[in-house]
Amino acid sequence: MDFSIPRHVEDIAERVRQFLVAEVIPLEAQLLREGIELERDMLMALRAKAKAAGLWAPTMPAEWGGMGLTMQEIPPVFEAAGRSLLGPLALHCAAPDEGNMHLLQQYANAEQVERFLLPLARGETFSAFSMTEPAPGAGSDPRMLRTRARRVGADWSINGRKWLTTNGEIADFFIIMAVTDADAHPYRGSTLFLAPRDSPGITILRDVPLLGQKDFGGHVELLYEDLRLPPSAILGAEGEGFALAQSRLGPARLTHCMRFTGLAQRALEIATEYASGREAFGGALTSHQAVQWMLADSAMELQMGRLLIQEAAWRLAQGQQARVETSIAKVQVSEIVGRVLDRCLQICGGRGISRDLPLSTWYEKARAFRIYDGASEVHRMVVARDVIKRYGAPPAQ
Ligand SMILES: Cc1cc2nc3c(=O)[nH]c(=O)nc-3n(C[C@H](O)[C@H](O)[C@H](O)COP(=O)(O)OP(=O)(O)OC[C@H]3O[C@@H](n4cnc5c(N)ncnc54)[C@H](O)[C@@H]3O)c2cc1C
Repeated sequence: MDFSIPRHVEDIAERVRQFLVAEVIPLEAQLLREGIELERDMLMALRAKAKAAGLWAPTMPAEWGGMGLTMQEIPPVFEAAGRSLLGPLALHCAAPDEGNMHLLQQYANAEQVERFLLPLARGETFSAFSMTEPAPGAGSDPRMLRTRARRVGADWSINGRKWLTTNGEIADFFIIMAVTDADAHPYRGSTLFLAPRDSPGITILRDVPLLGQKDFGGHVELLYEDLRLPPSAILGAEGEGFALAQSRLGPARLTHCMRFTGLAQRALEIATEYASGREAFGGALTSHQAVQWMLADSAMELQMGRLLIQEAAWRLAQGQQARVETSIAKVQVSEIVGRVLDRCLQICGGRGISRDLPLSTWYEKARAFRIYDGASEVHRMVVARDVIKRYGAPPAQ
C-alpha cells in the first residue's frame, strides 16, 4: 500500500486549510463569542465562497460541480475541512448529506438522480437518513426495525416512529428504512424509500435536545403515518435496504473519522500554543514533562488514527467492503479524538473550559461520535466476530 499523499491532493488540502483560516474560523469565533447558532443565510454565504474558491463537494464528480476526489484521495482534504465544525458544512462534505450523496450516486436511478441527487449536490437542498427508532425499535440492532411499509394498490404506505434523524428540521427529503417483508430474513426484508418532505404523513414531533451546542438541521423525532409513496420511491430494489444502508454507513463512518481527526489536530495546535506561552512553576507549561507527554500521546494517537483511516479508505477504493477495517478505524479514531480533546482541554486549564476557546464545544460534540454510526461496543463485536472466525477452535465433532 502506498500511503503517500499525491501532490494535487496535498495542494487541495492546503487550500482548504487556508479557506478555513480566511472564511470559516472567523465565523466560528463570532458564533462562539456571541453565543449564537449558525443560521441558513450565514451558511449559504459561506458556501458561495467555497464554490467561488473551487472547494465545493469534494466527493461529487466535476460535471456536477464537485471536485471529483476518490475515497483514497479524500482523507487529507476532509481532515483539513474538519478543523472547524463549520468547515464540512461550508464545503458540502458534512454528515448526513455527504453520506446520502454517496448512497444516491451508487444506487439512484436516472429519475432519482435528477430529482434528488443533483439539487443536493448543488447545495440547493438538504437530506436526512431515517433509520434509528426509539425503543423498542431499531437502534444498534437494525434487525429490530419496526417501521413498516405495506402495499396499498400500486403504492406503499409507511407507518412508524423514528428519532435522531439528523437534518430532520431542514431536510427536503428523507431516506427512510422500513420493513417490507416481515417474513424474510431481517437482512433481506427491509427497503429504502425516498420521501419528499412535503409528502402527507410526515410529522416532525420535536428536535431532540442533545449534549452540547445545537447542530444546524437538528436531530428530530418524527412519525410516518400512512405516508403514501409510489413504487418509484424505492431506492435500489425492494428487500435491499440493509445492504444499501451498510454500503452507506461504511464510508460514512470513515469520513466522520477524517473530519474529527482535523478537529482533534487543531485542538492539539491550540493546546500547544497555549502551553508554549503560559508559564507556571518557573517555566512555560511545555517545559513540564507531564504536559509534554500529553502532547506526545495526542500526536502519536492521531497519527495512528490517520493510518487506520488510510488503510480502510484504500481498501474501499479497491472495491473491498472493508467491514472490519472501518470498524477498527471507527472505534479507535472516535476514542482517540475523545482522549485528545480531553487532554487539550486539560492543558488549557480554565481557558479550555471557557467558551473563549472552541475546545469545550468540541469536547461535548465529540462524545456522541462513540455512539452514532455504531457504538464502540457494536464495532468491537464486529472485530471480535472476525477474530473468532479466524482463530476460534472448530466445533467438536
Ligand atoms: C448526534 C447523533 C446523530 C445521529 N444521527 C442519526 C441519523 O441521521 N439517522 C439515524 O438513523 N440515526 C442517527 N443516530 C442514531 C444512532 O445511529 C444510534 O444512536 C446508534 O446506532 C445507537 O443506537 P441506540 O441509540 O438505539 O442505542 P442502543 O441500541 O439502545 O444501545 C445503547 C448502548 O448499548 C450498548 N450496546 C449495544 N449493542 C451492544 C452489543 N452488541 N454489545 C455490547 N454493548 C452493546 C452500546 O454501549 C450502546 O451505546 C444519531 C445519533 C446521535 C447521537
